[in-house]
Amino acid sequence: MSDVFNTTITKTKLVCPIGEIAGKDNIQKGTTPVFSCEGACIRGEIARVAANMIAKEDGYSRGCHGEAISAPHTEPAKWVKGSDKVVLIDGCFMNCHGRIFENILDKEQLLRFDALSIYKKYSDLMEIDSVPEEERKATARQVADAVLAQLKQAEQPTQTEQPAESCSTCS
Ligand code: SF4
Repeated sequence: MSDVFNTTITKTKLVCPIGEIAGKDNIQKGTTPVFSCEGACIRGEIARVAANMIAKEDGYSRGCHGEAISAPHTEPAKWVKGSDKVVLIDGCFMNCHGRIFENILDKEQLLRFDALSIYKKYSDLMEIDSVPEEERKATARQVADAVLAQLKQAEQPTQTEQPAESCSTCS
């Protein structure tokens, strides 16, 4: 059995005018796109809110999965395709968007995170509003902070990459 299956998308020549402006701006600034899986349950919602929080940080901006996947002629899609790094937060271990994006982007571009593995709650709940809004936001903040910390750590040079004159015992 094959590990992949195909789906079919109807082409369009349409573009979203403001999306084109935003896409060009992101290409010019070299920002990193941030996606979530957009799942309709509480896990998808926490991933979505966490992605929005990360997208507010310097150097990041929210990617549009609809255009990235279904409208490759658009500037937002070209931005994603041409970015060095793409951050993706899936809501849970199903990795729904990761399994799509790993077939659209190069392996080294995609930085994947599983939100549920960070906060480890609500597995018996489905509805978004089964968790109060403030608690949802606090949980999303926990996910966003954990993802940002891992992204920051990944940017740190390894010991062998440090300049020769640097001293490992100096602060
Ligand atoms: S990754 Fe989990 S939360 Fe997101 S769409 Fe898939 S099943 Fe839903």
